[in-house]
Amino acid sequence: MKSRIVVLGAGFGGLELATMLSEALGEDAEVTLIDKSDSFVFGYSKLDVMFGRTTMDAVRLPYRDFVKPGVRLLRETITAIDPEARTVTTDGGVHEAEVLIVALGADYDFDATPGLAEGANEFYSVAGAQRLSELLPTFSTGRALIGVCGAPFKCPPAPSEAALLLHDYLTTQGVRGDCEISFVLPLGTPVPPSPDTSRALEAAFAERDITFVPGRRVSSLDPARHVAVLEDGGEMPYDLFLGVPKHRAPDVVIESGMTEDGYVPVSSSTLETRFPGVYAVGDVTTAGVPKAGTFAEGAARVVAASLIATVRGGEQPDPYDGRGTCYIEFGGGRVGRVEVDFLSGPKPTGTFGEPSDAIAADKQLFGSSRRARWFDR
Ligand SMILES: Cc1cc2nc3c(=O)[nH]c(=O)nc-3n(C[C@H](O)[C@H](O)[C@H](O)COP(=O)(O)OP(=O)(O)OC[C@H]3O[C@@H](n4cnc5c(N)ncnc54)[C@H](O)[C@@H]3O)c2cc1C
Repeated sequence: MKSRIVVLGAGFGGLELATMLSEALGEDAEVTLIDKSDSFVFGYSKLDVMFGRTTMDAVRLPYRDFVKPGVRLLRETITAIDPEARTVTTDGGVHEAEVLIVALGADYDFDATPGLAEGANEFYSVAGAQRLSELLPTFSTGRALIGVCGAPFKCPPAPSEAALLLHDYLTTQGVRGDCEISFVLPLGTPVPPSPDTSRALEAAFAERDITFVPGRRVSSLDPARHVAVLEDGGEMPYDLFLGVPKHRAPDVVIESGMTEDGYVPVSSSTLETRFPGVYAVGDVTTAGVPKAGTFAEGAARVVAASLIATVRGGEQPDPYDGRGTCYIEFGGGRVGRVEVDFLSGPKPTGTFGEPSDAIAADKQLFGSSRRARWFDR
């Protein structure tokens, strides 16, 4: 039996979902995967690009290399979604689905932080990371401020990694002594579900003379005065601002009427939305887990297993467990890890893995295994 499945967004969630369906159903899958981009980039590659460790060309994974039986990948921009009718309009036409999966990720809401779009820099988009890779070599003295403009944001450890990697970068450039680094975070600790991970990061900040300001959010910037204004009215001066913009679901998802408070509510165990036959996975959802590729992928696997069971007549999968592994760059080539579990217990928990060569190798494998699985590289 063929089943018309339309997957919106070929990021972590969409790529894994389409791959699993293709593996299990082959030509019976009849999956249409739609993305407006020509390539996929791992989130952590943006840090590597920003600090000149690689180039954007080297880390782009072109979608033309995603070739799977039963899956059609279309490069189109989605302009409207009708979740009642399960119809999707793009700049290339209209797609009707029996099953629709929304995996469109989170977008950046620059307007939510006045001043961020003019005169300040962010490192969460491909363009922003690339711009910073050109700007950082010109920064040799003054105050660098890493500022998060709202929570939730993608990959909670990433701004901490940026602070530690900036320390390394400035040290290598021979200018660390002439620069200050501060880091403003709306969360109370760097990685709230794991006190051990947070303690290790806070110790690393202290060792490197990085000023950590937890529990505060950058609410606006005054690029003319070079000042970041915090939510409580406090001000922090900067010469170089490295920002994490406020996030929300893409406009097309908000306009579809599927969102509440900026994201698509789903059942944490099945990823079903309130619309029959419509699922949502990854950063676009409120699923009770952080916004990270590892969680988008885990959620996608549960939806794929459920669809495969429906088509092939097997058992439905276990509920989504909200488990994921995040790798954390501590600088100096040292990589730690936090294994978090958001849904199986009464409260989220996290287990810290001290930075080691073995964990650095695991991070490499995390990337290379997905490159091989999705892009045959
Ligand atoms: C600096 C940084 C470091 C990170 N490090 C890690 C890490 O180490 N580990 C980790 O697990 N996660 C990490 N992340 C987070 C990770 O990148 C995201 O959480 C993950 O990509 C989310 O997957 P997703 O499938 O929900 O959405 P995405 O991967 O964002 O995919 C969404 C897709 O939808 C497409 N799209 C959006 N709107 C439209 C439209 N209108 N029409 C067509 N296509 C559209 C986009 O082009 C995109 O390809 C990091 C993120 C950043 C920014």
